[in-house]
Amino acid sequence: MQVPPFSLGEQLRQLGDALDGAVLEVLRSGQYIGGATIGRFEQEFAASCAVPQAIGCNSGTDALILALRGLGIGPGDEVITCSFSFFATAEAISAVGAIPVFVDVDEDTYLIALDRIEAAITPATKALLPVHLFGQPVDMERLCAIAAAHELLVVEDCAQATGAHWAGRPVGSWGDAGCFSFFPTKNLGAAGDGGAVTCRDPQLAQRVRELAVHGMPRRYLHTALGYNSRLDALQAAVLNVKLPHLPVWVERRRAIAERYQRELADLPGVQLPARGGEGHSWNQFVVRVPQCPARTAACDGGCIPSADSASFGLPEACCRDWLKQQLQEQGVSTIIYYPIPIHRQPAYAELGYAPGSLPVTERLCSEVLSLPIFPELTSEQQEQVIRVLRQLVSCPVAVAS
Ligand SMILES: *Cc1c(COP(=O)(O)O)cnc(C)c1O
Repeated sequence: MQVPPFSLGEQLRQLGDALDGAVLEVLRSGQYIGGATIGRFEQEFAASCAVPQAIGCNSGTDALILALRGLGIGPGDEVITCSFSFFATAEAISAVGAIPVFVDVDEDTYLIALDRIEAAITPATKALLPVHLFGQPVDMERLCAIAAAHELLVVEDCAQATGAHWAGRPVGSWGDAGCFSFFPTKNLGAAGDGGAVTCRDPQLAQRVRELAVHGMPRRYLHTALGYNSRLDALQAAVLNVKLPHLPVWVERRRAIAERYQRELADLPGVQLPARGGEGHSWNQFVVRVPQCPARTAACDGGCIPSADSASFGLPEACCRDWLKQQLQEQGVSTIIYYPIPIHRQPAYAELGYAPGSLPVTERLCSEVLSLPIFPELTSEQQEQVIRVLRQLVSCPVAVAS
């Protein structure tokens, strides 16, 4: 039996008729751009995030760009974020002409290290852009307090964290704006690309809405250089069918994460993710496979020298890459989110971050491995992941203390 890292098969079986009906209705209505289907989704998504405003757009990347532009962030401004994220987090900052400033992440949570933010603030800093990576919310009380003390804006990258909350408040409701992605593998996935910006300020909502349609407050009047970034009616129809299931899906993800935590807790050489509290929405379950310095580990002799390590000045990923390959051979597919940190990407060479400049981020990129987690993962599939992983690493392993 092959365990995939992600699969839509079972969800499509369960929702099939409802999805077909919703899509056909839009198809037959002829209303593909704008209209009630999108309005309904925006309202219900806003309500699910406990904010008055949600604006649908073409992708999570565009949501970030639209939020930054809407908040007036542009050339010369610095935006503090983390380099351990999907590339789009930083790409959006650069797309509006601003400069991403990377702060290292926390060892345990993999999230932006809050105690390192203040040292990165300069007179040019305009905003903090925390990423709720893998579905785990950043401590937004502390982050917003730092922002308030320095009069900075807060844009939340909620792309992986739909359904997550911090201190009982949904992500996307803490900052000045929240940016969501409906890419199919996210917690709430469309049948293609989609995204949304959430906010409380109706004027910001209006600016974002206009920017998403060519900076056009009314037909053929253009007050800003904007974008063509709408949420399609077909995607909104799919999302309308799926949104009511989100809480149950997130509960399933939590239960799966809980079982991994329980049944892998004593595994030598594999470090489990921080539990992250009840607000974690577990888009990914990311373990760390640190290097075994003695090389007497299970991977002895079978080490795979990682091309990325050499090319991008990263620590060796030998043990992680060995484990990934062994898992694959035994039917368990895993993914590496992310093998190369943003600050070491060729596209950002000009920013001048040398190897070692963000040591925790760089080490994580060489150690992380995402185990299969999605709501429809069966108990048997999870059992297989646990069994294979245990077999692979339970031979006598010399693990660094
Ligand atoms: C997926 C993702 C994005 C971009 O979303 P798209 O819808 O793919 O454009 C941005 N940030 C993070 C952290 C993501 O995971």
